[in-house]
Amino acid sequence: MERVRLADGVPSPDLSRLVYGVWRLADDPAGCTPAIVEKKIEACLELGITTFDHADIYGHYRSEKLFGAVLASRPDLRRQIELVGKCDICMISEARPQHRVTHYDSSPEHIRRAVEGSLANLRTDHLDLLLLHRPDPLMNAEETASELESLVRNGKVLHLGVSNFTPPQLDLLQSRLDLPLVTNQIELSVLSVDALLDGTLDQSQRLSRRPMAWSALAGGALFRDDPRAVRVREALSRVADRIGTDPSQIEPIALAWILRLPSGPLPILGTNRIDRIERAARACSITLERQDWFEIYEASLGCEVP
Ligand code: NAP
Repeated sequence: MERVRLADGVPSPDLSRLVYGVWRLADDPAGCTPAIVEKKIEACLELGITTFDHADIYGHYRSEKLFGAVLASRPDLRRQIELVGKCDICMISEARPQHRVTHYDSSPEHIRRAVEGSLANLRTDHLDLLLLHRPDPLMNAEETASELESLVRNGKVLHLGVSNFTPPQLDLLQSRLDLPLVTNQIELSVLSVDALLDGTLDQSQRLSRRPMAWSALAGGALFRDDPRAVRVREALSRVADRIGTDPSQIEPIALAWILRLPSGPLPILGTNRIDRIERAARACSITLERQDWFEIYEASLGCEVP
């Protein structure tokens, strides 16, 4: 698996081109015992997927702990992986009885506390990359930036980024930071194409900062029976057939469609099934030809491009 530098010309982490996301770790029907989580981590490493995407809220504040339990018993694994963390969403959850409403909190106190919590849960002394999870309308950019820089100065976080930010929101925070925001983690898949037209991916390319693509298989919606998903699956199958791969296996083509974008996105996988992680990894050896890429795009749009 290719390793890529997230941003050019600025200090930046090297990550695996495909990332594994742990949002659904606690939902695995097979369970989420340390043995099951360890097996999943090992399977990713075997494929060269070394980057793991976390957030404090995942699994109702449980996923980090499940992952951390494995790192505690296998400290050798920490040296082989990169940990991405996120904070600022405050979810209503039994684990957080003080939350009356789901809200965002980008205040220095909250960010500091959330990162300390993530480090303790993950049994590590640093995050390789910390992202603000969602743009907070109440963010004071000056104060938030100052806390983010202090986390880097103290070695608790190595690099900084954002998630779900519009280009102006990213510009605002960056304007108050001396350190680069090395990525914007955004929703992007064959069924979520807004970032192609709203300036998000243009900004990534202009700044030479690769985006990370969450729900890269549309959170499973690609496999449902609504007419758009069916149309896109048919296009993916046709392209698979044309390039000589198994037309019943559409995931590698759907991910190759993301990989083909010139901003160089890193798709984040969310399946709990090891066979599906292995299948997804095949995307890295596929380069879609321009017309094949457009055939899939038009299936998603439901019309020809003008
Ligand atoms: P995804 O890979 O698009 O979707 C995973 C879902 O699709 C799982 O429920 C999976 O079920 C299902 N699926 C995958 N292949 C399938 C197939 N062949 N047939 C039927 N179902 C299939 O990714 P995601 O989990 O939505 O998101 C990936 C990661 O992105 C998350 O873990 C998280 O790290 C990150 N994320 C970030 C944000 C953000 O705001 N920054 C938001 C959402 C997610 P199985 O497990 O049964 O395969």
